[in-house]
Amino acid sequence: ARANDSTKVEQILAQAHTLYKDEKSGANADYIPALAKVDSEQFALALVTTDGKVFTRGDIDSHFSIQSISKVFTLALAMEQQGPAAILDKIGANATGLPFNSVTAIELNQARSVNPLVNAGAMATVSLIEGENAAQKWQAISTWYGQFATTKLAVLEDVYRSESSSNGHNLAIAELLQSYGRFYGDVDINLDIYTRQCSVGVTTKDLAIMASVLANGGTHPISGAKLMSADNVERVLAVMSTAGLYETSGEWAYTVGLPAKSGVGGGIIAIMPGKFAIAAFSPRLDAAGNSVRAQKAIDYIAEKAKANIFSSQ
Ligand code: GLU
Repeated sequence: ARANDSTKVEQILAQAHTLYKDEKSGANADYIPALAKVDSEQFALALVTTDGKVFTRGDIDSHFSIQSISKVFTLALAMEQQGPAAILDKIGANATGLPFNSVTAIELNQARSVNPLVNAGAMATVSLIEGENAAQKWQAISTWYGQFATTKLAVLEDVYRSESSSNGHNLAIAELLQSYGRFYGDVDINLDIYTRQCSVGVTTKDLAIMASVLANGGTHPISGAKLMSADNVERVLAVMSTAGLYETSGEWAYTVGLPAKSGVGGGIIAIMPGKFAIAAFSPRLDAAGNSVRAQKAIDYIAEKAKANIFSSQ
């Protein structure tokens, strides 16, 4: 990007921050007690281009839990290890149209097929990750996330403990999948790894750097590491497009048109293939579980940058 492009990106991020910093609607997630205590006013934006330029705005040093955004990167690892056919066959790739932790979604579908970005499919995806034992599997996931972030990421222990002690619903989902032969390892071990991956602490800049690999066909724009095949990136983005923002994924595709993934910690990543990745963070969520400010800010940035995967203009 040329120098004046950089100035323009800085301006767009600044405008998005100014426009939505006073937006107060929504509320922190509170079904995980530790998330209810997070400062709701935090607001940060980051954009990383496929030529490795990093732009940031707002509370860029705040660490928050990655939550469901982790599902994207564990899916990427499982797909690299098992191939895309195994993901389609063992997990599924259709939007459920139902909340992220829906039991009904599993029951309604005769094939018990969900997708890797809702809790059921994400926990089953963790169960597919290679490793002799829990420690090896966790090591593989944690190393993989670090390669995307270009820095070692640490688990936020308070979030991990809080979520572990209030995890009955996810346990029930994993047991249900196991009963249908749709879970591929020990329930307790894989549920624990899933909970740990959701509790990984990131900054908004870390998230945008991680997401930039998906904007760049699997090669890291900053480290140069080839982390994923370009074919697998396309499939991960396809699932993000249909199921990345919970049951409002259709509305998101309709209004914004970028593959994205949200987490109940308040983060959202969005990808413009070949161009850039955006990350936004603010804790207050709408009824579906998506950060209100992050959605508005990304919508604004995408619009100003004329970024929409469905556009031919
Ligand atoms: N760890 C959260 C859960 O399993 C993730 C939910 C989310 O971010 O959608 O409930």
